[in-house]
Amino acid sequence: MKRWNGWGHVETSKALPAGGLEFLASRIGEGGQPRDASLETALATVPPSRLADLPGLEADEQLRLCHARGQSFADWLALRHGRPGPFPDAVCRPASHEQVTRMLALARREGAFVIPYGGGTSVVGHLQVPADAPPVISLDMSGMDGLLHLDESARLATLGAGAAGPRVEAQLGRHGYVLGHYPQSFEYSTLGGWVVTRSSGQQSLRYGRIEQLFAGGRLATPVGDLSLPTIPSSSAGPDLRDLVLGSEGRLGVLTEASVRVQPRPEREDFHALFFSGWAQAVAAVRRIAQERVPLSMMRLSNAAETETQLMLAGHPRLIAALERLLRVRGIHDEKCLLLIGVTGSAKSCRFARARALEMARAEGGVHMGRAIGKAWSASRFTGPYLRNTLWEAGYGADTVETCVDWPQVTATVKAIERAARDCYAEFDEALHAFTHLSHVYPQGSSVYSTFIFRVTGDYETDLARWKTLKSRVSRAILAQGGTISHQHGVGLDHKPYLAAEKGGETGLAALRSALASFDPDGMMNPGKLLD
Ligand SMILES: Cc1cc2nc3c(=O)[nH]c(=O)nc-3n(C[C@H](O)[C@H](O)[C@H](O)COP(=O)(O)OP(=O)(O)OC[C@H]3O[C@@H](n4cnc5c(N)ncnc54)[C@H](O)[C@@H]3O)c2cc1C
Repeated sequence: MKRWNGWGHVETSKALPAGGLEFLASRIGEGGQPRDASLETALATVPPSRLADLPGLEADEQLRLCHARGQSFADWLALRHGRPGPFPDAVCRPASHEQVTRMLALARREGAFVIPYGGGTSVVGHLQVPADAPPVISLDMSGMDGLLHLDESARLATLGAGAAGPRVEAQLGRHGYVLGHYPQSFEYSTLGGWVVTRSSGQQSLRYGRIEQLFAGGRLATPVGDLSLPTIPSSSAGPDLRDLVLGSEGRLGVLTEASVRVQPRPEREDFHALFFSGWAQAVAAVRRIAQERVPLSMMRLSNAAETETQLMLAGHPRLIAALERLLRVRGIHDEKCLLLIGVTGSAKSCRFARARALEMARAEGGVHMGRAIGKAWSASRFTGPYLRNTLWEAGYGADTVETCVDWPQVTATVKAIERAARDCYAEFDEALHAFTHLSHVYPQGSSVYSTFIFRVTGDYETDLARWKTLKSRVSRAILAQGGTISHQHGVGLDHKPYLAAEKGGETGLAALRSALASFDPDGMMNPGKLLD
C-alpha cells in the first residue's frame, strides 16, 4: 500500500546511515519539530461529495484524500499537517478509452472539472484541486496500463497511458525490449504523466527524453478524440505531438501512447570518476557530450553533493580508504564525482567507455571502477524514501532544476545555491545546498539542485518559507536565462515564470487559444500550466 502522506510503499523505508544525522546537524543544526497529523485527522477534513451518486464515480473519503495532492514540498506540508484539501469530489478509474470519453461527457454535462491523475508524483502542484471550484473529478489512469500492441519491425509499442514505470518495462521485457525511460520517480510515475509533463529519464543520453520516445497516441478531449499516427518523420506543418507533450492535463486525457522501444541491451555498467575540481569536471563532461560519445548517462556532482553522497553512503571505512587513495592522486576537498553509464552491445560499451575515460583523463579525471556506480544503480529509485526519513528527523528537502547553455552552467549552479542559502539566512537558518548535472547536451546541461533545511513544525511558517525560497530560486534561474523546468513541468508552482521562455504574452496567448480549441469550457485541470 502507498503512503498517504509521504513517498512510496508503506513497507519500504530507507534509514540514514550512522553519521548521516551528525553530518546534517553539523551543517544546518539539529532537526526541527515535524508535525504528523494522523490519517483520521486528515480524513475528518474531507467534506461530503457533491457528485456522490453519478455512475462510474467513487466518493470514498480516503480515495479522495489520496488524489488531492502530489509530491511537491507544499503538498507534503499540507498532507503531514492534516490539511490536504481542497479535495476532488469523486474519483473515476476508467478501464478503456470509451469510458474516459463517457466520463468527459458526463463532467461537461455536470459542469465539473476533471484532473487526470497518473502516478501522483508531480512536484509542481499539477494535481491540486482549485479552491471554490465547481465539483472536481480526479480521473485515475491506473486501470489503463496494458501493452496493447508491439510492432517489432518498427520497434513501436502502444501501451495504456496509466502504466507506471515497472509495468511498462515488465511488459516490454517479456518480448526482449526496453523503453529505457527511468525518472527517479519510476516506481510510480506513468507513461501518460511522462508525456504530458515532458519528463526526462536518468539515461536520456542513450534513450532520449520522452519527446524523442513518444511517437503518437490517442487523446480523449472534451470536443472529441485526437488520434496522432506514428509517422517516423514528417514535414507536414506543425507537429501536434508537441501540443500533447507538456499539456499537463489541459487538453484532455492521453489514454494510449505509442513509444519507440529498443531491444534489451546486452551490457550495462556505471563507472565512477573523480576530478580535483568543478571546472575540470565540467570541461570533461562538455567535451564528451559535444563529441557525442555514446554513453547512456553522465551525472556530475559538485563538491557539496559529492561530499554529501559520500557522507550518506554508509560505509565510513571504505570511504576513508577511497579518500586516501584519491589524495595520493592529487584529489582533495573540492573533489567532484562523475558517474558515467555505458549501455549497449559489448563492443559499443567498450568503445564508449574507452573514449570517455580517455577524454576525462585529459582533464585530470581519475577512474575508480564500477563499485560506486553499482551502488548508485542499485539504489537509483529508492533515494526518494530518504525524504520520509529526513522529515521524521525534522528536515525538509526540496529540489529545483533548469537547463542552460554551457557558458551559463557554472554561474547558474552558483546563483541557485546562493539564492537558496541567502533566503534561509534571512530566517536565521542555514540551508544545505548541493547540485548535479544529469542531462547533458552538446549545447548545454540541466542543473539540478537539492536543498535540505530544518522544518519548524508550524504549517504557516514552513509554507511561507518554502514559497519565498521557491520564488527567490526561480528568479535566480530566470536571471541566468534558464528554463523554469527541464523535466518537472509547470503545474502551479512554475506558472508565474513561464512567459520568459514562451515569447511573452504573444506566445502565452497562442498556447491559451490552442488549449481552448480542445477544451472550450476550461474544464480540464484548470489553473495549471497557464491561467
Ligand atoms: C521523488 C521524485 C523523483 C522525480 N524524478 C523525476 C525525474 O527523474 N525525471 C522527471 O522527468 N520527473 C521526475 N519527477 C517528477 C514526476 O515524476 C514527473 O513529472 C512525472 O512525469 C509525473 O508523472 P505521473 O504519472 O506521476 O503524473 P501525475 O503526477 O499524476 O500528473 C502530472 C500531470 O500530468 C497530468 N496527467 C497525468 N496522466 C495523464 C494522462 N494520461 N493524460 C493527461 N494528463 C495526465 C496530470 O493531470 C498532471 O497535470 C520526480 C518526482 C518525484 C516525486
